Amino acid sequence: MPEIHFDRFYRYDDLTRLLHTFAQEYPNLAKIQSIGKSHEGRDVWLLTLTNFQTGPDTEKPALWVDGNIHASEVTASTANLYFLNSLLTRYGQDQAVTEALDTRAIYLCPRVNPDGAEWALADRPKFIRSSTRPYPYDEEPVDGLVGNEDMDGDGRILQMRIPDPNGAWKACPEDARLMVRRDPVESGGQYYRILPEGLIKNYDGVTISISRSKQGLDLNRNFPVNWRQEVDQHGAGPYPLSEPETQNLADFIVNHPNIGNAITFHTMSGVLLRPYDDR
Ligand SMILES: [Zn+2]
Repeated sequence: MPEIHFDRFYRYDDLTRLLHTFAQEYPNLAKIQSIGKSHEGRDVWLLTLTNFQTGPDTEKPALWVDGNIHASEVTASTANLYFLNSLLTRYGQDQAVTEALDTRAIYLCPRVNPDGAEWALADRPKFIRSSTRPYPYDEEPVDGLVGNEDMDGDGRILQMRIPDPNGAWKACPEDARLMVRRDPVESGGQYYRILPEGLIKNYDGVTISISRSKQGLDLNRNFPVNWRQEVDQHGAGPYPLSEPETQNLADFIVNHPNIGNAITFHTMSGVLLRPYDDR
């Protein structure tokens, strides 16, 4: 069984090795392939999971599973890995898993956006929404806070507290590392403003605007269904499937009409979102 840990996040090279090890150790149940390259040229890995002795995947109803289209949502990759590990290690022992892999196929793409995840997991991480491709402008932001960078090199992107008598935050009495809201009528204490860790360019001494990210794409908004142009939907890209990461998925899914269901893992909201049932 491949050695896998769920208490850490895997960078691209380690993830690549791990996925190939699963495919090598379970040749009857798993195959690995690249479904295309990312913007920076990384292979996007996909595992086909089924019992190949009961027939090819393409002749079985299939489930699509993916994750980590958004750069920092590396937990979504972990969820994919957990699912992968559960299926392969429980086959032959768990009746539902065995039946699923005997009669169905699962296409698993644990890291749709390997470039963005690599930035998020770097020694000096950088937080971006999804693709590392500059959009819509290929130039550096001019003024304001160029945020979400690890400025002090501690490997983490945190927040900056700036003393300000009019600030809306104060240190938590129980643990000064935390910030809590100042009461609206409270005065006389030490108050702060909070900004994302980053670099302020051309500070005028008064206002700090948050500059727009140079990497402004949101790959999740680049799919053809209900695609809207930039003015309506920030980060949607110049046209549907303009980006290699979304094109990779669309090509594979269009070429596999046996796919009947899909689950795409994200983080942040803690919700289950379903497509509109009236469209
Ligand atoms: Zn997301």
